[in-house]
Amino acid sequence: MVLLGDAVWSLTHYSGIGASSPVAGADLLGTTLQRNPGFAARALREREQKLRPFIGAVQTTAHQDLVIFVPQTRRDRTTRIVTLNLLRNPVAKRVMMGVIARQFREKSMDVAGA
Ligand SMILES: Cc1cc2nc3c(=O)[nH]c(=O)nc-3n(C[C@H](O)[C@H](O)[C@H](O)COP(=O)(O)OP(=O)(O)OC[C@H]3O[C@@H](n4cnc5c(N)ncnc54)[C@H](O)[C@@H]3O)c2cc1C
Repeated sequence: MVLLGDAVWSLTHYSGIGASSPVAGADLLGTTLQRNPGFAARALREREQKLRPFIGAVQTTAHQDLVIFVPQTRRDRTTRIVTLNLLRNPVAKRVMMGVIARQFREKSMDVAGA
């Protein structure tokens, strides 16, 4: 039995990538099975090795982004207001996009590509 998508890693709606990662994960499963005919265990291991770092990174950022979606404290609320206001300013937006570029790079990774 192979678990896919939310059933195995439940990225939650705070990740912003919960809908596409099950599709990419299934696509990668097809690729690794095709590449290892008759060796399902090896195909699953290969898939896991490729997916795990990506999913781990997205789980971490989803946890960090939670405070933006659902502020828990006064400090979170202030951070959210300041962030949203800064994003309205084109110069500040460019600076912020540079700062958070790493996070977007991880989310833009081609997981299905073998
Ligand atoms: C409120 C909310 C907002 C979200 N917003 C976003 C967003 O903006 N962007 C984003 O990328 N993701 C978002 N997500 C997350 C995204 O919807 C999920 O991560 C994604 O749908 C997971 O896909 P999945 O195929 O793994 O599971 P699911 O989409 O949950 O599919 C599982 C399917 O299995 C069916 N099923 C369950 N048990 C059985 C059974 N015994 N027999 C047969 N069928 C069964 C279910 O009915 C369901 O249709 C959001 C989620 C929520 C709840």
